[in-house]
Amino acid sequence: MSDNSRQGVREIRINPIVPSESVLIATARSMRPRQSEEPAPRDTRKHVPTCPFCRGNEDKTPPEILRRPESDEWAIRIVENLYPVLGDDRSQSNLVFGLQQAIEGYGRHEVIIDHYQHGIAVHEMSEEHLQLLFGVYQLRMGQLYASDERLRYVLVFKNFGPAAGASMAHTHSQIIALPVVPQNLQDEVSNSHNYYEKHHHCIFYTLIDEALTFETTIYDRNSGEVVRRINVGQYVVERGERFIAIKPFASRYEWEVHILPLHHQSDYLDASAEDLADLARVMKRTMARLDAVIGGAQYNYFLHSRPRGKDFEDCHQSYHWHLEICPRTSIPTGFELGSGLFVNTISPEEAAEQLRNAELPEDF
Ligand code: AMP
Ligand code: ZN
Repeated sequence: MSDNSRQGVREIRINPIVPSESVLIATARSMRPRQSEEPAPRDTRKHVPTCPFCRGNEDKTPPEILRRPESDEWAIRIVENLYPVLGDDRSQSNLVFGLQQAIEGYGRHEVIIDHYQHGIAVHEMSEEHLQLLFGVYQLRMGQLYASDERLRYVLVFKNFGPAAGASMAHTHSQIIALPVVPQNLQDEVSNSHNYYEKHHHCIFYTLIDEALTFETTIYDRNSGEVVRRINVGQYVVERGERFIAIKPFASRYEWEVHILPLHHQSDYLDASAEDLADLARVMKRTMARLDAVIGGAQYNYFLHSRPRGKDFEDCHQSYHWHLEICPRTSIPTGFELGSGLFVNTISPEEAAEQLRNAELPEDF
């Protein structure tokens, strides 16, 4: 831990990839801009007879898209969403009326039943199962992009717990295929492209290098006192052979962690089976660390990967896909909505250290 974080940090940190996304790190106990979210009691039941996502209730969901393995003893299913936010009916045309502009809500919205066991947590799933799940994400993402060239972005995400917006207790993820590229992805892609033009290497690489190797002391210009010490590996939470989990320097959420491939890859569809096996291991260990430190985490995670469309064809060298995990331990307030500044009350350096030091069971 740096000297500075012990005394309390109060500073605005600029997201190095998307500078317009700033974060106010305010660790002093007196500053409490957000209300804490109590961890919800977890539903740990293995099977719930009335749950539409449990085995045996396959007829309680809309048509199935795929299942793995293809037997009654399935481990993962993808089904159409009963209440989709986007659909494939193309009756309406795009609306343009003065300042009112709307793009037709065309797309796909599907539910991935992540595991046949109702209340299993991600860190309790086997590495083999998680590899299968990441493979299913990849397979369906590829099928959707191939099915319709108007789809610009296929977002895979998971909501876990009511604080993360989940309405179903059975473990599940979702896929939303959009006819537009979300602005946050456009910003990541174009800013990393600008960085590549200037520096001739990927900004995410620099981020990983800094997380792994950076060591420096910052002194006050006038007094010569130590302002901050930045230590080797300070932001590393977990390391695999092919993936790394890091705590972003400008974390929006107290326990936010990002997982990135160590080798350059712009597109999740290019990840090999070996990559996904290592991702599964790093994910399981990272989620176990989060569970050990915050207990019963409610969270969202999502994949950011190269979008489709002609504007995104030349970002293979500059963009780097990754998975962002955002545990929801507090509720955003009017300050955050009004300012666009996220408030984080735990210094990312301190949070990374706690996650790194969490003791995992021996069989992990
Ligand atoms: P969440 O609200 O994040 O928990 O996601 C659950 C998703 O499952 C929502 O998008 C619902 O529309 C969808 N859903 C709810 N019940 C069913 C069902 N029986 N079959 C398929 N999808 C469902
Ligand atoms: Zn269930």
